[in-house]
Amino acid sequence: MAATPSHTTVAPARAVDRAAGHLLLVEDNVGDAVLVREMLRTALHDRFEVVHASRLSQACERLEEGGTACVLLDLSLPDAQGLESVTRVRAAAPDVPIVVLTGLDDERLAISAVQEGAQDYLIKGRVDDHLISRSVRYAIERKRAEVQLAHQALHDPLTGLPNRTLFLDRLALALARVQRRPSAVAVLFLDLDRFKVINDSLGHETGDRLLVEVAARLSAVLRPGDTVARFGGDEFTILCDDIDGARDAITIAERVGEAVAAPFVLEETEAFLTASVGIAMADEPDARAASLIRDADAAMYRAKEKGKSRFELFDAVMRARAVERLEVENALHRAVERDELQLHYQPIYDIATRTIVGVEALARWRHPVRGLLMPEQFVALAEETGQIVEVGDWVLRQACLQHRRWRRERPDAPPLRLSVNLSARQLQQKSLVADVACALADTGMDPANLCLEITESVVVEETEAALQAIEALRAEGVLIAIDDFGTGYSSLRLLKDLPANMLKIDRSFVAGLGRDAQDTPIVQTVIRLADALGLQAVAEGVETPEQLAELVAAGCGLAQGYHFARPAEASVISRLLAGAPQL
Ligand code: C2E
Ligand code: MG
Ligand code: MG
Repeated sequence: MAATPSHTTVAPARAVDRAAGHLLLVEDNVGDAVLVREMLRTALHDRFEVVHASRLSQACERLEEGGTACVLLDLSLPDAQGLESVTRVRAAAPDVPIVVLTGLDDERLAISAVQEGAQDYLIKGRVDDHLISRSVRYAIERKRAEVQLAHQALHDPLTGLPNRTLFLDRLALALARVQRRPSAVAVLFLDLDRFKVINDSLGHETGDRLLVEVAARLSAVLRPGDTVARFGGDEFTILCDDIDGARDAITIAERVGEAVAAPFVLEETEAFLTASVGIAMADEPDARAASLIRDADAAMYRAKEKGKSRFELFDAVMRARAVERLEVENALHRAVERDELQLHYQPIYDIATRTIVGVEALARWRHPVRGLLMPEQFVALAEETGQIVEVGDWVLRQACLQHRRWRRERPDAPPLRLSVNLSARQLQQKSLVADVACALADTGMDPANLCLEITESVVVEETEAALQAIEALRAEGVLIAIDDFGTGYSSLRLLKDLPANMLKIDRSFVAGLGRDAQDTPIVQTVIRLADALGLQAVAEGVETPEQLAELVAAGCGLAQGYHFARPAEASVISRLLAGAPQL
């Protein structure tokens, strides 16, 4: 309870309030100046000290010293005429409000001055105490609101950092300047690793606090002239102006990475973050702001692919890759129409009986120039551009049609399960369930024989969308498999809540069976976990008899891998299904 002590000296009501600043009266006519000064004194009860300048140059010098609350500006001065005065005052002190003073016959000029950025105007000879006091107060308030709005429009409300708009503006300015200087400009694109997971597990409030702290750390390790902006959710961009070259940019990237990696102390716990940083240098004379950011972003993705706490410099190789990606993207647009996509199928075996119980459809692209492309060469890209939705729908329908052909070839055989991969993007699609139902109806596919595979990391990152979609698909009678299990950090709670049917153990764990001391117990535990949750376990990527033996010992029911059969065209699978010897 900090009660105000009674002996505090309270300033007399009429004393000059120094914190409020001074009013700067710019007027060359001595008579007018005396009049205005006197009115200000009575009207504002001496709240402001009044400083007088009779020339604009003098006024600008005073403005640069600071402390001016408002300028009262005569528009005809010996060293400046008309609107020029307003422009020069604004250049000297952009945040100081201006009230223009004009003669009776000059009201139009006064209005132009307001359009140029003055806050209000007064007509000499028509002013009284009341009017002048109202005008000064109004100008101060209006300017305050203008400054605040301008700040809000250009800053991120959470961290207070410049936003994307301001960053692009500063970058464009820096690029214009660099043409006239021997120095270099670098853009760093920083993205926090796995922030979404942290955000979801610790809560959004904590996530916000972490972002604020990251912003503060970034600002602290940069030079005052550099700009750090919040570009989006967990993305920050840094503009390093006037550096010597790529080496400097790398040093900054290292510093920034270390700043993010230091532990964050929260109330009950600590959090650890890492960042991936991409660097792009403006080394071409006509570098454009947008393409520089795009390059830095592409380099950041490279850094992320390589692992945590890494940075990557955008270079000629990446430029070539970016061009290639663009070509692939364009070509993919027509791949579906031109019938260039194709499906291979890989059998899934029941380990105990050694029979095929299902097949997984895997997309291939017969590129007219580049030959047979594997999913890793185009699926991620199709995902980014959204083309995966169209591709995915084609895959599903094509696979269902093939399934029907197999059924007709062997009408008495036990049902064959068809597995089709779903991408994150498809999962976000509102129409997913309707699209799947439609494909099933059009192709006469029994939903009970269709299994849609969703990668574990997608389930973790898109929990809401995934849960909803999975529930709706299950309601349609379709089966669900969690693909690449073990790579996605899902919680036991999430697994328990997921109405899935199968768990596919990622092949990286299967690869270590019998070789890696840790992989064997991991695989055993996952199989037991699947059992406990009522899910069928499928081992992916089984390549050797040793791995198979370990899986048998661990009680794994289903397996898929080169040891049994490689993915192959439908006709090859037909022969396998008919009991022909394996490849
Ligand atoms: P996935 O769903 O985990 O598919 C299994 C991948 O493992 C396939 O790679 C398959 O060829 C490979 N594989 C199978 N057995 C072995 C083995 O014994 N050893 C090794 N080293 N690899 C084995 P593929 O065909 O290159 O597909 C890669 C990934 O691309 C798939 O992983 C899946 O996530 C994605 N994908 C494939 N087709 C589609 C599709 O139509 N739509 C979507 N969204 N994704 C697809
Ligand atoms: Mg799969
Ligand atoms: Mg998999």
